[in-house]
Amino acid sequence: MMEKLSTEQVRRLEDVKANYEEIVGSIEKAAVKSGRKPEDITFLAATKTVEPEIINYAISLGLKKIGENRVQELLSKYDDYDLENADLQFIGHLQKNKVRQIIGKVSMIQSVDSVKLAEEISKQSVKNNLITDVLIEVNIGREENKSGIMQEQADEILAEIAGFEGLKVRGLMSVPPICDSKQDIFKYFDKMYKMFIDISSKKMDNISMDFLSMGMSDDYSEAILSGANMIRVGSALFGTRIYR
Ligand SMILES: *Cc1c(COP(=O)(O)O)cnc(C)c1O
Repeated sequence: MMEKLSTEQVRRLEDVKANYEEIVGSIEKAAVKSGRKPEDITFLAATKTVEPEIINYAISLGLKKIGENRVQELLSKYDDYDLENADLQFIGHLQKNKVRQIIGKVSMIQSVDSVKLAEEISKQSVKNNLITDVLIEVNIGREENKSGIMQEQADEILAEIAGFEGLKVRGLMSVPPICDSKQDIFKYFDKMYKMFIDISSKKMDNISMDFLSMGMSDDYSEAILSGANMIRVGSALFGTRIYR
């Protein structure tokens, strides 16, 4: 139970509520426009830098999925998330030596970008008698400073990972380059969608293409129109991030 909020805090919650409703409305529109149902689209909130109280308020509004992108931050907030009503995922770059710390705490790791990382997730999951869902992160813009596998490596990497115990590939994730025009961003989203469909049609054992996770605050409608069924939205929901 929250007590006496300051005017500033009340305003913050009102903003989050208005933003939440706006995003849900936009998701609905884009879903219908792309021939799908609103409930076919998973709205995950990217919660980096956001205090658990605010995250839990968004959960009270109906938000069902949250994603953190730093292990340290996730662990420090872990006991305060309302995980009875929402599901926690990992969406950031993950170092092999930190896998152990989040296995069993997150339902999905969206950012698998190497066979070595998948191997460690497999090992730690087996040790804990768990199956961890993962997405393969694709560096669709071939950017040097970004994580993710290259498009042409996908078949080989998937074939290798498919054999790992304790891990199940559930789809693809991408963070495309920042684009000046909508036309450019559609180009990357379309490439991802094509890849998603191509891999789907190969029907590989232990690989299912259930989720195509792409689209953030500035472009989630475009992502949905291009075929995304999971979007990861941070600042459009919680406001501009303040890094401390
Ligand atoms: C922060 C983050 C997002 C959300 O970014 P916004 O532009 O604030 O919506 C999405 N995906 C990942 C991996 C992130 O780290």
